[in-house]
Amino acid sequence: MGVAVVLLLVVLLLAVAGLATAARRRGARSHGPDGTLRTPQAAGPPREGDGLGTKVRALFGGGVADDTWRRLEDLLVRADVGPVAAGDIVARVRADFRAGADPADVLRDELVAVLGDDEPLRLPPGALGVILVVGVNGSGKTTTIGKLASRLAGEGKRVSLAASDTFRAAAGEQLDVWATRAGAHIVAQARGADPGAVAFDAVKSASARGADVLIVDTAGRLHTRQPLMDELSKVKRVIEKAGAKVVETLLVLDAQTGQNGIAQARAFTEAAEVTGVVLTKMDGSAKGGIVLAVREELGVPVRFVGVGENVGDLEAFDGRAFADRLLAG
Ligand code: GDP
Repeated sequence: MGVAVVLLLVVLLLAVAGLATAARRRGARSHGPDGTLRTPQAAGPPREGDGLGTKVRALFGGGVADDTWRRLEDLLVRADVGPVAAGDIVARVRADFRAGADPADVLRDELVAVLGDDEPLRLPPGALGVILVVGVNGSGKTTTIGKLASRLAGEGKRVSLAASDTFRAAAGEQLDVWATRAGAHIVAQARGADPGAVAFDAVKSASARGADVLIVDTAGRLHTRQPLMDELSKVKRVIEKAGAKVVETLLVLDAQTGQNGIAQARAFTEAAEVTGVVLTKMDGSAKGGIVLAVREELGVPVRFVGVGENVGDLEAFDGRAFADRLLAG
């Protein structure tokens, strides 16, 4: 009897000691140095599975079910590809997909096909080519003009700028700083001046200087205000009256605006015959899926991608690299 009681006590003591050790181990794992709760999963390296490509493979993992195509469409819409473009792309993936194929690869091929070949700017040799730059305030218009001016100057072109955004306070001054950085000549007038008059003067001055390119800044009009959009058309007419040709109208779109960017693109396309898009702020977390919507619904190519705030942070658009990034997420 006495031996049994001693044995029972020993077993109980060992059990209590074991529980205490386990609790200590758990405590060490569950709190970070700052005292916040951490799980081993969150503390470890990022898991595979966050990117669109991995999600697509997971979706097809158990074979193609009734709702697979609808769920693929949802994945694309969540990556900022508009609903119309998502529907079109999924219809084509569905037509091309064969059992055993990697669905992410099939999707990638469709994305590349939608984005089309990279299209450089069309600048006329030996004549002044005018680039009109449009977009809402804050999209990165002024910064993009500065980067583009510097890029073209680096290619040996003589570049002039027209500060036709006479509406926003300090827009002219901001552009002036970029003109200095890029080594470009700038024509500006006082705030509140007629944007068309600035553009007219700028064409005359650029022609007299033998410039190759004139980049015209325009006010960051809200696309919902019709009279302001009409002004854009007027600036374009004035430039042509001054004897120059608008060879490109670039729409600057912030990659982070998501679906709203499609509405902007549609309105600007109607007002100003947009010939290309510059997608800014791609150095952030945005994947830029909006570009597929713009390309698919409006047929406008992407020309450049903004990847930072510095003068060199403008890259020529590369459809394949873009599709890879979207899938890698
Ligand atoms: P605007 O009102 O359209 O002329 O826009 P701005 O050119 O003044 O740009 C608005 C803000 O976006 C500024 O703080 C810029 O530095 C920033 N910005 C513009 N392009 C980029 C880009 O590609 N990447 C990042 N990170 N910021 C950008």
